[in-house]
Amino acid sequence: DLPTVIIIGRPNVGKSTLWNRLVGKKLALVDDQPGVTRDRRMGDAHLLGLDFTIVDTAGWEDEDAATLPGRMRKQTEASLEGADVALFVIDARAGLTPLDEEIGRYLRESTVPIVVIANKAEGKAGDHGLFEAFSLGLGDPVALSAEHGEGMADLFDALLPHL
Ligand code: GDP
Ligand code: MG
Repeated sequence: DLPTVIIIGRPNVGKSTLWNRLVGKKLALVDDQPGVTRDRRMGDAHLLGLDFTIVDTAGWEDEDAATLPGRMRKQTEASLEGADVALFVIDARAGLTPLDEEIGRYLRESTVPIVVIANKAEGKAGDHGLFEAFSLGLGDPVALSAEHGEGMADLFDALLPHL
């Protein structure tokens, strides 16, 4: 069986774009509106000679503040079940949001290895968000542009020890 890598993160950070980039198809829906990816999508990923199953997730789109923490924990636990690595994607242009911090808190309790992805890092606009991502306490973030295919060799380096 191929190892499984799961993509998690708040809406609109580029999870489905990264999934598409790794699978090389346009099967996951990408949209300017958050919440387009409704189901978990699995695909065969290829990255510089690494083969793995990649899972695109959604689920935090419709949460209101009152029920968020419990539901998030449930969603995170479900997402991480059976995963060899989780890619925790943040938007390097937007910087860390309270929801990112909240997800980060749960992920720090996880036994699944986490790789933080600072996406939308093309150009200089992502520099500050990349720096902020260190403060999640989940290891060195990988600067990536899923849309432009930049940083894929660094993603390979980060995944290799876990697959
Ligand atoms: P998801 O909700 O996390 O699955 O995010 P999507 O993959 O649907 O992307 C949300 C928006 O961010 C879309 O408009 C994408 O085109 C855009 N996006 C994704 N990756 C990048 C990137 O690397 N750079 C920039 N500038 N935009 C991106
Ligand atoms: Mg999506």
